[in-house]
Formats: sequence, structure tokens, C-alpha cells
Amino acid sequence: MTETTKVNLLGLTQPQLEGFFESIGEKRFRAGQVMKWIHHFGVDDFEAMSNIGKALREKLKACAEIRGPEIVSQDISSDGTRKWVVRVASGSCVETVYIPQAGRGTLCVSSQAGCSLDCSFCSTGKQGFNSDLTAAEIIGQVWIANKSFGTVPAKIDRAVTNVVMMGMGEPLLNFDNAVAAMQIMMDDLGYGISKRKVTLSTSGVAPMLDELGKVIDVSLALSLHAPNDALRDRLVPINRKYPLAVVLDACKRYISRLGEKRVLTVEYTLLKDVNDQPEHAAQMVELLRDVPCKINLIPFNPFPFSGYERPSNNAIRRFQDLLHQAGHNVTVRTTRGEDIDAACGQLVGQVMDRTRRSERHIAVRQLGDEAAPSPSAANRT
Ligand code: SAH
Ligand code: SF4
Repeated sequence: MTETTKVNLLGLTQPQLEGFFESIGEKRFRAGQVMKWIHHFGVDDFEAMSNIGKALREKLKACAEIRGPEIVSQDISSDGTRKWVVRVASGSCVETVYIPQAGRGTLCVSSQAGCSLDCSFCSTGKQGFNSDLTAAEIIGQVWIANKSFGTVPAKIDRAVTNVVMMGMGEPLLNFDNAVAAMQIMMDDLGYGISKRKVTLSTSGVAPMLDELGKVIDVSLALSLHAPNDALRDRLVPINRKYPLAVVLDACKRYISRLGEKRVLTVEYTLLKDVNDQPEHAAQMVELLRDVPCKINLIPFNPFPFSGYERPSNNAIRRFQDLLHQAGHNVTVRTTRGEDIDAACGQLVGQVMDRTRRSERHIAVRQLGDEAAPSPSAANRT
């Protein structure tokens, strides 16, 4: 068997790994042993698997491998935030961010290199789309993050207690790989993270939400960003395909299946003078009247030639107060890791764009250098 045909065990769920062992004529229980070595102990060398006999280790070496994405860089911010740039098989780079908070550590994981959905305020969207990450490349980000804190045996607190699928890409457009990776995150033989602490964030690929509800029960976040269709059509173009009523219905169906008083997280990136006015807050209250949810406001994180600005702290507070007064649970996301460019929406990686969108964005940037147009003109890509 050649190098390239080796099966990468890193991205296999427990049932898939059991199937693999069966396919090579071995007992299914080996899957549990190997998963523990990979995910609990961060091992990538079959030789280190001391409860597996020499003959099977040799057999595994010949037909399988444990291969995470290649680490291009690792930065640690003064506030403890960590950022990795990793290279995936397609040659593009994606980013992973670890954010420590009191009593927990949240890992923000990428699901695609680039993104095809082109939300107008998102630097990932501006780069265009290159490739879906494999399940191994998605779970590999969790594997790398845990390993960076030292080898952590089972039952000892891990550094990564929460995972949010809020890095680069739209996870519902890389459905099977995102689901497999999240299953490994929640499996006790994997990372044992509770279903409440794994969150998938979507810009609103409505039909896939029903599919998601059939296979997994992770927490759900919707990137709302606008309280009416006219504005959302501009900011989140997929809204033209799945408008607010359709997407909110799909979210409600997903959440109601979960039971146990779980609620939708509504993410709302605040853009100065675009979606941060009192009328927008009032519309949002109306829109979310019968949606069990909590609201997370994300002050816009600027990137060059985005054409948008972050609202003032007063405007952010005013918006929060209006929602709060209407009875909503509202938090404002604080920016972390700014000194290592790890903030939301600033994950740029290095995507080899197949859609040529980044060329168009760069052309506009160059135009900006020459003619210095107004920010709003620069945004018309
Ligand atoms: N594709 C998914 C998940 C990745 S984006 C989604 O859109 O939900 C994660 C979150 O960061 C989204 O809510 C996104 O809208 C937000 N975001 C993107 N660019 C941003 C920026 N420049 N400033 C603040 N938030 C941003
Ligand atoms: Fe893609 Fe999410 Fe960025 Fe929109 S906000 S372009 S869906 S990554």
C-alpha cells in the first residue's frame, strides 16, 4: 500500500473506526483503544500505543496514519488567546483561535478554506472559497489546541471546554465533515465535550438545519445581522435564497427538537449607521418575539477596505439596552487576541481562491489606494 492510500484515523468517528478495524480483519473494540490514544493523549505514532500488540501496530503502520493539518504558525496573545494558522490538503491556510475565560476555554474552529457566501462585512467571505476541510482537518484543530497545552490524559480537565464552529467557512455547506468532527468532539472516547458546549454557527442555510436536527443535538447560533429582509439581503446574501421567515422557522424547529430549555443564540454584528439604529432594535424585538433565544452582539471588527465601521461604545450600549428592556438576554462579545489578529471576522488565512472573488476585492483595494474612494464605495465589490 502506498503512502497516499493510507486511511487517516484522526477524522473517523467511533462507528467509522470500528468499521475500519472490521475491514482489516480486526476486532471492533480496537477502535476505542485507538481513539483514546489519538484524542486523549494526542498520539500520532502507532508505536506509542502500548496496549496494542506489535503485529497489529505493524499492520496499522502499513495501512493507516494519524495526520493533523500542518501547523504554519502559533501565536499567543498577551491576554492568553492563542491562534494557529494551519495548512490543509488543498494548500490553503485556515485559522483556529483559543480564547481562555474564567473556568473555561473556547476554541473557534474553521470548517472551510474561505467561504462562498460573501457576507459583506466578513473578511473570510471577501477571500472567496477554496475547499471544504476534511473531518480530520476540522477535529485536527481541536487535537492541535489540546496538544499545545501538554498531553492531557482522560478525566483530567482539558484546556478546550467549549467549541464554536465560528472560524472560517460555513459549516452547513460542509455538512458531513462538520458533523463527524462534532461527533468526535462530543464522544467520551474523543473530547467528551457536552452537547451544550459545542455550537454550530450558520448564516442561515435553512434546509440543512432540518438535516442537522436528524443527526446531532449541538447548540445552534444564527448569524442574523439584520432584522429585515431588505437589509439582510445586502449583508448576508444567502438571505435572498432563504429569507428571514424561512430561516427562523428552521431554527425554531431545530431548537424545539432539543428540548431541555435550550435556546438559539442570535449573533448580530453591529455595523455603524447600517444596522445599529433604534429602529433596528425595535424590528429585532418584533422578529424574535416567539423565538426562544439569547442575543450576542458582536461589535464589527474592522479590516482594510471593508467599507464598514465599528459603532461607538455608546451606540453599542444603546442597542443592548433597547433589547434588554424588551426582555432579551443580551451580551456583547468582547474582542480578544487583537494583538495577534484573532478577532471574529478577521481570520484571513491564505486562501487559494477558486471563485476569483478575492481578485475583485483586491482590485477595489487598489482602486482605493489610487483614488481613495469613500469607505462605502470601497465596499461595492
Ligand atoms: N459561517 C458561519 C460561521 C463563521 S462566521 C456564520 O456566518 O455564522 C462567525 C461569526 O463572525 C458570524 O456571526 C459572522 O457574521 C461574524 N463576523 C464575520 N465577520 C465579522 C467582522 N468583521 N466583525 C465581527 N463579526 C464578524
Ligand atoms: Fe461565510 Fe460566515 Fe463569513 Fe458569511 S460570515 S462569508 S457565511 S464565514
